[in-house]
Amino acid sequence: MLRGMGVSISVLASGSRGNTALVESSQARILVDAGVSCRETFKRLKSIGVDPRTLSAILITHEHSDHIYGLATLAKKLNVPVFLTGATHQAWARALRDENGELPKLTKLELFASGRSFQIADITVTPFTIPHDAADPVGFTFRAEGVKIAIATDLGYMPASVCDHLRRSDVLIIESNHDVEMLRVGPYPWSVKQRVMSRVGHLSNDSLAQFFEKDYDGDASYIVLAHLSEQNNHPELALRAAENALGLRRTLLRNRVTLAAQDAPTENIRL
Ligand SMILES: [Zn+2]
Ligand SMILES: [Zn+2]
Repeated sequence: MLRGMGVSISVLASGSRGNTALVESSQARILVDAGVSCRETFKRLKSIGVDPRTLSAILITHEHSDHIYGLATLAKKLNVPVFLTGATHQAWARALRDENGELPKLTKLELFASGRSFQIADITVTPFTIPHDAADPVGFTFRAEGVKIAIATDLGYMPASVCDHLRRSDVLIIESNHDVEMLRVGPYPWSVKQRVMSRVGHLSNDSLAQFFEKDYDGDASYIVLAHLSEQNNHPELALRAAENALGLRRTLLRNRVTLAAQDAPTENIRL
């Protein structure tokens, strides 16, 4: 049905100005989050050789606008099933209510519950709860053809439950949001700094490094650092922190570290 064989992932956009990624198997194409405009999403899909009309589904992690901004238009144009939790759907619908109190409709709405796996064609999707200040935020793992891909961004810290879900992943898309010192001395108002640093905010380079040192099993072929702050981080800082923490576990075949970006898709990682 689709191009090529095997499973692949490309992070199309990552950061506070919009997040979206594409997970593909030989039988399905899933868009994970819809945080950039429909037009921009189409443009980025085409730039990696994917016709947007071939998407199978859209999955949403949480209702913050950098994850959901393009959803209403994308869902209407593509008429594909949209998967989110009930609480996330409610929060999204309320935010988009029109002046008559009319809620927006998703014609193919599919509700899921965190912790319960479901199937999209040959891909097993497992949503898991993450600590973040949204209604019901989740990360996802995707399993197909013997490959496991995990996506976890927008989390204040790494609870044991999240570490468990990330185990045995072949590709790890994981947040490396800020450098704590840059955030501390940076331009954000104190209230925003507190939010970002809190247990329901965003994961710092240091917290991710701690995960790599203490809880990470070292199994991934690829690690993609994601949701980097443009104000409070530098790609080189994030990369260095991760590489130092991974140390000797980085080899030709394991733990290759790359960066997702706000303005351009990553290369397609194919397994
Ligand atoms: Zn968020
Ligand atoms: Zn976000």
